[in-house]
Amino acid sequence: MDREHLLLFPFMAQGHLIPFFNLAKLIEQRKRFAITIVNTPLNIAKLQSSLPPNSAIHLMELPFSSSEHGLPPNSENTDSLPLHLFTTFFQATETLRPAFEHLVSNIIQQQGHNRLCIVADMFFGWTVESAKKLGVFHSVFVTSGAYASAIIFSLWLHTPLLAESYDEVPLIDFPEVKIHHSQLINAIVSSDGMDPTTVFLRQQISLSFQSSELLLNTVEELEREGLRLLRNISRLPVWSIGPIASTVPSSDHISDSWMKFLDSNPPASVLYVSFGSQNAIPASQMMELALGLEAGGKPFIWVIRAPPREIEDGEDDRIVWLPEGFEDRITEKKQGFLVHGWAPQPEILSHPSTGAFLSHCGWNSVLESLSQGVPIIGWPLLGDQLFNSKMMEEEMGVCVEIARGRGADALRNGWKWVKEAIELVMGGTEEGREMRRKASKIREMMAGALKGSSFKAMENFLETAFSTTMNDLK
Ligand code: UDP
Repeated sequence: MDREHLLLFPFMAQGHLIPFFNLAKLIEQRKRFAITIVNTPLNIAKLQSSLPPNSAIHLMELPFSSSEHGLPPNSENTDSLPLHLFTTFFQATETLRPAFEHLVSNIIQQQGHNRLCIVADMFFGWTVESAKKLGVFHSVFVTSGAYASAIIFSLWLHTPLLAESYDEVPLIDFPEVKIHHSQLINAIVSSDGMDPTTVFLRQQISLSFQSSELLLNTVEELEREGLRLLRNISRLPVWSIGPIASTVPSSDHISDSWMKFLDSNPPASVLYVSFGSQNAIPASQMMELALGLEAGGKPFIWVIRAPPREIEDGEDDRIVWLPEGFEDRITEKKQGFLVHGWAPQPEILSHPSTGAFLSHCGWNSVLESLSQGVPIIGWPLLGDQLFNSKMMEEEMGVCVEIARGRGADALRNGWKWVKEAIELVMGGTEEGREMRRKASKIREMMAGALKGSSFKAMENFLETAFSTTMNDLK
């Protein structure tokens, strides 16, 4: 292996592993580099099964025994853990350090320092210390957008900073950005700054800011303000290399009836509704959403998932989540199409009949929607989704937010607001037209970036990574 070598080290969660995997595939297209993804055995096995047989991406394992850390056996991914064990899991990941350093040392022995670049996850800030010790170039790949990341980093770095009574909180690092109390992450609101979650995150963020560069799956022209904030708080060069195409493994059982439904409707007339790969809304809010969709009068595809059990006390019968006769009625009227399970989202969003997306505003969904020029009805539930929605509404003018958070009062005006938002975003008012115009301009700009700014940013990143000598790193 004598080519320049990128060593990718994602945090052990699907929302991190998948973007890193997509990044690896993007770099692989350049054909000049050796690429290795390093992770724990079960995650490596999963990645292995998604790799095409002729792929040049290497996978390497780091040993990890979850039961030694008070976690259930074979817990190697947040997906298999309840929320209350996340912090124990965060802390356990720091024990990967000796094995990681050993692996890096072996690579250095084979090919020298200057031919290796670590691309680590933000949650593995400690790898900055490993890289410095071993004299290797280090960069961080941030898997959320710039605007949301800048806000979240600032919040964690300055916890505790907030009194519950504030309605609008100016951020310490950039007071020009004000966030509403309802946009605060629960863990931050209840933190005194000394709890293990805050201590862990503050440390990983601070260490990551001592890296050499940040890579983001975003577009320079799309997130000018967010990137300004992120450069300001990190004091690092930030390379926007997106949108990186997502290749999320799909279920084998998807029929193409969704395609027939879209084909049978006029251009830009269908609303697509989805809350991402892992979130669902409570049953009472599903009821309101269903009523609003029906009253909105537009055709829709809704990817529907059982309400979260912790909120709904174990109700799991579909009848209870939806108004009586809803599915039969909307099917008969040919107004709606429900997908129970997994939908081919990128394909749906790129179909000409799709006119708007009611979304939880996960970053991948945002990129997939905007790169097709599809405006958004925002229903952010938690974390960065809240700030993605805020940015799209306030900075870009391509989103109307109708609900926020996971509480009982998340959907402020019930089904009527769903209906009104559909009329606004998809209807004939000047405001709606303006929103669609803006979304369509963003689509052109994002398509241009793939051959323009994002392509150049990737070249610049690779150039810096491999032209930096040991002396530069000291
Ligand atoms: N996705 C999909 N079909 C579904 C649900 C999700 O293809 O039924 C994909 C979607 O296209 C996106 C990813 O899963 O690429 C979800 O990522 P996002 O960041 O939007 O949200 P998360 O699932 O991480 O909350």
